Amino acid sequence: MSFPGKLRILLEPFTKLPEEGIDETIADFVKRHIGDEALRELVSPMVSGVFAGDPYSLSLKSSFPVMAELEKEGNGSLVKAMVKRISKGAIGKRQRDKRGGPLGPGGTLTSFKEGIEYLTHILSERLGARIITNTEVQRIEKMQREDHPYTIYFKNKKGEGKFDADVVILATPAYITSKLIEPVDPAISKVLKETSYPPLVVACLGYKRSLISHPLDGFGFLIPHEEKMNILGCLWDSSMYESRAPDGYVLLRVMIGGARKPESAFLKDDELIMAARNDLKIILGIDVVPDFVRIYRHEKAIPQYTAGHSERMKIIEDSLKHHPGLFLTGNSYYGIGINDCVREAFKTSEKVFEYCSWYKPYGYA
Ligand SMILES: Cc1cc2nc3c(=O)[nH]c(=O)nc-3n(C[C@H](O)[C@H](O)[C@H](O)COP(=O)(O)OP(=O)(O)OC[C@H]3O[C@@H](n4cnc5c(N)ncnc54)[C@H](O)[C@@H]3O)c2cc1C
Repeated sequence: MSFPGKLRILLEPFTKLPEEGIDETIADFVKRHIGDEALRELVSPMVSGVFAGDPYSLSLKSSFPVMAELEKEGNGSLVKAMVKRISKGAIGKRQRDKRGGPLGPGGTLTSFKEGIEYLTHILSERLGARIITNTEVQRIEKMQREDHPYTIYFKNKKGEGKFDADVVILATPAYITSKLIEPVDPAISKVLKETSYPPLVVACLGYKRSLISHPLDGFGFLIPHEEKMNILGCLWDSSMYESRAPDGYVLLRVMIGGARKPESAFLKDDELIMAARNDLKIILGIDVVPDFVRIYRHEKAIPQYTAGHSERMKIIEDSLKHHPGLFLTGNSYYGIGINDCVREAFKTSEKVFEYCSWYKPYGYA
C-alpha cells in the first residue's frame, strides 16, 4: 500500500456512525473506515476469498455482522470498539468462539485430519438407519389436516415415493429450497429465488516439494481484483494442515471465478490449469507441471448476502409463522461459514424441540 493509503487507515478512530436504516455495502463501509486503497488491497481480496463475492454489492451487516456490532460499540470506530473490548478483557475469551465464522473456533483455521467431509460422514454413520441418503426431495406440500400436515415427495434409485411429516427442516441451498417450498409458500419461494450464487472453481495442484523454491510458510495469498490475475487466490493446504499431501509433496488450492470474474469459472479444464499455472509462476515462481491435479466445479458456490438481505430474512421469518413445523436452515440465511451453519443448526434444533414438546406422550421428546 502507498504511504497516503496507510495514513488513511490511521484516521479510522475518527469514523462517524452511518445514517440510520441504511443497508451499507462492504465497500462503502470499508471506504468510510479505512479508505479506498485499503478496500482494494486488503478487504476486497478477503471478500473474494471468503464469499467469492463482490464488496460493492454485499451487505456489511449481513455478511460481517460482528463488524456492524463493533461499529456501534465504538460509536462509529472499530478501533475504539476493539480498545474497549481489550480493556474489558473481552477479546480472546471463549465468548468470541461462540460467534462462528469462516475461520473456525476462536479465529483459528480448523479442519479434520480426514478432510471436512468427515463431518458429514460421521453424522450419517451415527444416525445410521434414521437417515436416508442419495434421495432427492422434489417438492413439499402442506395439507389441511391436523397430524402430519406436510407431504414430502422424493425420488431415488428405487423410484419415487412420498411420506407425511409433522416437522420439515429444509437445509438445502436457497435456489433448491425456493423450488421445494413453492407449493407451501410462494412468498418465501420468491425471496429465496432472489439469492444469487456466483460460480467458483477450486483447482487442487500437487507438486514435489523439492521442485518448489518458495518456503510456503503461511496460509497462502489472495489477490486484489485490480491486479487482473486469473485466480482469486491460493491456499497452501499442506502448510495449513497435516495429511493434506504425502511426504515430500505439497498441495496448493487455487480458486477461480467468483462474483467479480464469473466467466473464468467456465474455462475448460486445460485452460483453467494453464491460467492457474501462469499466475503461480508469476507469484510463487513455480514453473513445473503439477504431479497431481483435481478440479472441483461449483456452478452455484456461495449465497451472496447482497444489500436488502436482512429485509428478505424478515419476510421469510414472518411468513414461516404461518407454517408451524416448517424450519429453514443452512448457509442461505445467517452466515456462510461452516461454524455459522453449525450454530444455526443448533438454534433450529432447539426450535424443533420446543415445537415438538407437546408430542412427548407420543415419544417424540
Ligand atoms: C469452494 C468453497 C470453499 C469454502 N471454504 C470454506 C471454508 O474454508 N470455511 C468455511 O467455514 N466455509 C467455507 N465455505 C462455505 C461453506 O462450505 C458452506 O457455506 C457450507 O458448507 C454450507 O453448508 P450447508 O449445509 O448450508 O449447505 P450444503 O453443504 O450445500 O448442503 C446442502 C445439502 O443439500 C443437499 N440437497 C440439495 N438439493 C436437495 C434435494 N432436492 N433433496 C435432498 N437434498 C438436497 C445437497 O446434496 C447438500 O448435501 C466454502 C464454500 C465453497 C463453495
